[in-house]
Amino acid sequence: MRGDCGRDASVAAGASRRGGIVPLRAGPKIEVGLLGATGAVGQHFVRLLAEHPWFRLTWLAASDRSAGRRYGELPWRLPAPLSDEIGTLPVHALDAGNAPELVFSALDACVAGECEAEFAARGHWVVSNARNHRMDPCVPLLIPEVNPEHLALIERQQEENGWRGALVTNPNCSTVFLALALAALRPFFPRRVAVTTLQALSGAGYPGVASHDATANVIPFIEGEEEKLERETQKILGSLDGSEIAPHGVVISAQTTRVPVLDGHTEAVSVELAEAASREDILAAFAGFSGEPQELGLPSAPTQPIVTHERSDRPQARLDVESRGGMALHVGRLRPCPVLGWKFILLGHNMVRGAAGAAVLNAELLVARALMNCPREVDIAANARS
Ligand code: NAP
Repeated sequence: MRGDCGRDASVAAGASRRGGIVPLRAGPKIEVGLLGATGAVGQHFVRLLAEHPWFRLTWLAASDRSAGRRYGELPWRLPAPLSDEIGTLPVHALDAGNAPELVFSALDACVAGECEAEFAARGHWVVSNARNHRMDPCVPLLIPEVNPEHLALIERQQEENGWRGALVTNPNCSTVFLALALAALRPFFPRRVAVTTLQALSGAGYPGVASHDATANVIPFIEGEEEKLERETQKILGSLDGSEIAPHGVVISAQTTRVPVLDGHTEAVSVELAEAASREDILAAFAGFSGEPQELGLPSAPTQPIVTHERSDRPQARLDVESRGGMALHVGRLRPCPVLGWKFILLGHNMVRGAAGAAVLNAELLVARALMNCPREVDIAANARS
């Protein structure tokens, strides 16, 4: 038992706790834990972490329904095989203090709010998927390519809450994709956006939507989703003003639907830009977009965060969503919009870039910036892509 998650004295030499990027050298993997390990997103975390070059998943937790059993005894619903090492791990109750310093959360929102705060108070760095803390003024709502500077909120978060650990969130799945696209268009100042989503069934968790409702049907309502797209995007694109985020002024009108697709959220977007841009300008902005994860060569960072498609029948969920490890955003059908100026189609993997993969990338940035008191050093330089 580790007891309360304490600070380790072996931080990399020269590491700044407040955001300096430090060169780290090779060392053993960093032990990580996972809250909500048994759910739909939790299983994607398990899959991604099983082969992660920096992290080693050693601690799992879920509800009392699962606690006390070996992970491999519980249903596994992904086509990728479950690793033997993880299958033998016990599933714990949500018990702060016993887990490693870095903990991912794929908890249901009904329990995530209180539990994640408790873990942060006990010294854990919680990297969460859940919605509960996303809009807290001192919690970063992070997409590493878009707003890495928002990590500066952590200092205020720890001071205000008296936490030794911290809490970092990733956005709602549909929001990640819209925010990435609008971030690429920042040079042309996006002013107004209309977006309609066609969201996959896996986004509703397991067992999710009843088959009777989902089959050959479109469900025109997803509770809370439209508000998240509209508000979270403004926070993500917002500017850091001292220790506060000033929300971006872009006005977003969202309509969200659930469609009988297994994985992959499609979004039909129209955007008004304050600065004139040609089709070539916009395509170049999408294709050339990149950020800190690409500069640092973080292991989960796609080399090219936004992939543009020229064929008029792409991107398609079935054909494109799994490419590039599910971490890239796909954009196609860019054309003039008679109402707002430009329109296009987006596609992203809701369980990877929209959930587990997003959180893993967030954690990689925390390590790269030496924000946590990582007990191990990892070789970032060796992962850097030219
Ligand atoms: P899910 O399949 O329903 O899994 C929920 C997880 O939370 C399970 O591990 C479950 O454990 C655990 N849990 C539920 N109630 C609990 C309780 N009272 N105490 C302790 N643990 C409890 O949901 P999901 O789709 O994986 O989503 C997980 C989180 O990620 C949610 O907050 C969701 O909003 C967010 N998210 C999902 C997506 C997506 O595309 N699916 C995208 C972004 C964010 P048991 O198995 O033991 O019940």
